[in-house]
Amino acid sequence: MNDLKLYDPFEKMQFTDTNCFLCGTDITSEQRAPVFAEWLQHTYNLKDKELLLLDKSVSTFGQLTIPCCDHCHTQHLLPLENEIEQASAKGLEGLQQLPPQRLFQWIGKMYYGTLITEMIRETNPLIMPEYAITEDPKMLGKIRSFFSVLQSLRVPMVFSDFLPCSLFILSVDPTEDELPFEYQDELTTMCFSIKIGSVAIICTLLDNEIIKKALGKLYKLTEGKQLHPIQLAEFKARVFYAAYIFAVVPEYFVRQVKPEDKQLILDTLIDDVTNEIFNPWDMTAYAHMLEEMLKPWGIREDTILENPKQPISFLLSEENTFIPMLHYKKPA
Ligand SMILES: [Zn+2]
Repeated sequence: MNDLKLYDPFEKMQFTDTNCFLCGTDITSEQRAPVFAEWLQHTYNLKDKELLLLDKSVSTFGQLTIPCCDHCHTQHLLPLENEIEQASAKGLEGLQQLPPQRLFQWIGKMYYGTLITEMIRETNPLIMPEYAITEDPKMLGKIRSFFSVLQSLRVPMVFSDFLPCSLFILSVDPTEDELPFEYQDELTTMCFSIKIGSVAIICTLLDNEIIKKALGKLYKLTEGKQLHPIQLAEFKARVFYAAYIFAVVPEYFVRQVKPEDKQLILDTLIDDVTNEIFNPWDMTAYAHMLEEMLKPWGIREDTILENPKQPISFLLSEENTFIPMLHYKKPA
């Protein structure tokens, strides 16, 4: 019989080095799993690549590990990583063919792994992050909601008619692409993007695909196209900004379990009656986001907002058609 019991680390705020992150089992502090899988570290040479944590301390991809029991590691994490590794070896098509729920779990694990690394660090009295996740009740509520769906990694679970995230899978043109691997996350807005080889996956967690619908037209225009890295950067800015103004938190409910059930069924609810789904669009805030993403090209806010009504775009023409771009020429 399957164990369909969910684990709730928030009940006792059990974020320690001696509880498995996924099932809560007591473990030794040596039992750990990498946040970024071995195959990913190996393929993209990440082991010693640096990562900045919230308290501004520096870690490396290789050092970033989470407490994980042997069972969860070998039965749940490794099979998922194998599946993603094989799919990614087939490039864009391979990743597109994966069940979206698997990609959600994969990205979710890396996001959550990064997040709880921060949360476990916060329990150390010597560490003073500028922003402490564990002291923000709204954020904790979001993470709790998110963790209930992330447990589909361990507990057989069906999402009744939703996916708990938005996934954008994009193809990048290799001509001017110098980065074989790229990764970015925003812990509070639950955004995540990862580029492996010529494929980029951008994901907003916990939005029940609402952001994907909101950006549906733009996403459709990129179908079958290869994006210049600067176009990918703009796409990311649009997605990350949408997540920034996304204002609701979906709730998830487990349907009553019968003794013969082999999986949980989850329903969801978004309160869009008393809440607006998105906060109002703010052009200056969007321009900041875009400026951040366009840093490698040195494009500043004044250039972005040269026309204050229509910020600069490398993706869309004035007629809202896709701009094919092989080379980026810096304006004189
Ligand atoms: Zn476990």
